[in-house]
Amino acid sequence: MRSFDVVVIGAGPAGEVAAGRLADGGLEVAIVEDRLVGGECSYWACMPSKALLRPYEALAEVKRIPGAAQAVRGSLDAPAVLARRDEIIHDLDDATQLPWLEDRGVALFRGHGALTGGRRVTVGGEELEARRAVILAGGSVPMFPPIEGLDGVEGAWTNREATTAKEIPERLLILGGGVVGVEMAQAFQTLGSQVTLIEGERRLLPREEEFACAQVTDALASYGVEIRTGQKATKVSQSDGTVTVTTSDGTTAESELLLVALGRRPSTETLGLESVGLEPGGTVAVDSLCRVPKHPWLYAIGDINGRALFTHMGKYQGRLAADSILGHDHAISHGADGPLSPRVIFTDPQVAAVGHTTDTAARAGLELDVYDTETSGNAGGSYYGRGAPGTARFLVDRERRLVVGCTITGAEVADFLHAATIAIVGEVPLERLRHAVPSFPTRSEIWLKLLEQAGV
Ligand SMILES: Cc1cc2nc3c(=O)[nH]c(=O)nc-3n(C[C@H](O)[C@H](O)[C@H](O)COP(=O)(O)OP(=O)(O)OC[C@H]3O[C@@H](n4cnc5c(N)ncnc54)[C@H](O)[C@@H]3O)c2cc1C
Repeated sequence: MRSFDVVVIGAGPAGEVAAGRLADGGLEVAIVEDRLVGGECSYWACMPSKALLRPYEALAEVKRIPGAAQAVRGSLDAPAVLARRDEIIHDLDDATQLPWLEDRGVALFRGHGALTGGRRVTVGGEELEARRAVILAGGSVPMFPPIEGLDGVEGAWTNREATTAKEIPERLLILGGGVVGVEMAQAFQTLGSQVTLIEGERRLLPREEEFACAQVTDALASYGVEIRTGQKATKVSQSDGTVTVTTSDGTTAESELLLVALGRRPSTETLGLESVGLEPGGTVAVDSLCRVPKHPWLYAIGDINGRALFTHMGKYQGRLAADSILGHDHAISHGADGPLSPRVIFTDPQVAAVGHTTDTAARAGLELDVYDTETSGNAGGSYYGRGAPGTARFLVDRERRLVVGCTITGAEVADFLHAATIAIVGEVPLERLRHAVPSFPTRSEIWLKLLEQAGV
C-alpha cells in the first residue's frame, strides 16, 4: 500500500488547486483522475464554451464602433472558431496540464478512485493510504430527469458533445434554459444552426434578475433562436433520425439533434461513500470549510458538494480545504460560496451577478433600496458597448447602507463584477465607496450613478 499525507479524488479545477496548495505547503499528495487532468471545466465546459461564444461577441462589439465596423467584411468563420476551440482544449490531451502537478511533486494516479474505508482509497487495484485527509473532488455529470423516452434517445448531446462538436448542425433542439442552455443556444445559432430552446419555467435564467433574463431573451430572439418558455418537456421520442419533444401544453418540437441541458448531478454513485457510512448518489454535505461532518479526515470540494457549481468557487473551496488541512489559522470561510457566489453568463449581453437578486433578498427578509442605471449610459459607453442594451442594478441594504447584491448586464461586462464582489464581501459602506473613484471614461462610472441615486 502506498501512503500519502493527502489523497485527492478528481483532478478538475477544485482538486488540482487543493493538491497544488497542499504540496506547496510541504505535504505528500496523490491525485486520482479517471479522465483528463483539468476536469470538465478545461475540456467540456467553461473553456470550450467560451471559445464558441467569444468570436460572436467580439464581432458584435466591432460592429458597434463606427470606423471599425466598416472593416468587417464577412460573417463568423465556423470552422476557424472550432479550430480555435480545439486549441483551447488541447485536442482533449492533458499533457500540458501535467507539469504543473509534476513541478509540485504531486503523484498522479490514472483510474477510477473510490473510498474503501477510513482514509483508504483504491485506484485500479492499488490501495492508497491517506495519513491526514482524503479530498473528494469528482465534480458533476449531466442530469437526465425522468422524462418519458429521454434516456432512450440515440446520439443525444450533453455539454460534452456540444462543446466538442466537430460540425455545426443544421438544427439543434435544446432542453433547458439555464446557463448552459442559453450559452449553447447563442453559440450554435450564431455559428449557423437553427436553435429551438425549451424551458419549463416561465422564463429563461430563472435564478437571475428578471431584466437580465428579458435582455438575454430579446438578444437570442433577435438572431433567430426560437424560444419556448413555460413548456415542460413531458415526452421525447425518436424515429427516422428525428427527435420529437412533446411539452406540457401538448405542442411538439422537432430536430435531428437534441442537447440535454437540464442540470447536473454529483459524481458520487461509485465513489465508495457507503464504505464510510455515507449515502451514494447525492451531494456530499459539508461544513463551511468543506469538511464532511463526523469524518474529520474527509473533505468534499467543487461541484460534488453542490454549494456553488462554478469553477472559481470550486477553486476557492480547494484553497479553504487545503488551508484547513495545513492547519492555517486563516482557514476561515466567509460563507461566500453558496447561491450568492459571483456568476457570469457569457452571452451577448453578458449577465454578471454577485450576491442577492431582488427575489433572494426579499426571501431573506432584507429591506432594500434598488438602484438601476444604464450600463453604457456614461462617457465610457461611447467607446465600449456603444448602444448595446445593458442595466446595472445595485441592491442596497437600507439599514446597513451596504451593497448586498449587484447584477450588471451588457456588452463585455464580466470583468466589472469583481469590483462589486469586493464591495459586497468587504462590506464596504456606501459612505466609503464614494472615495473609490472610477477612471474616466470607463463604464465603471455606473458606481457614481449608484452613489448619486443613494444620495452619497
Ligand atoms: C457547458 C458548461 C459551461 C460552464 N461554464 C462555466 C464558466 O464559464 N465558469 C464557471 O465558473 N463554471 C462553469 N461551468 C461549471 C464548471 O465547469 C464546474 O463548476 C467545474 O468544472 C467544477 O469543478 P470540479 O473540480 O468540482 O469538477 P470537474 O471539473 O467536473 O472535475 C472533476 C474531475 O474528477 C474526475 N472524477 C470524478 N470521479 C472520479 C473518480 N471516482 N475517480 C477519479 N476521477 C474522478 C472527473 O473525470 C473530472 O475530471 C460550466 C459548466 C458547463 C457544463
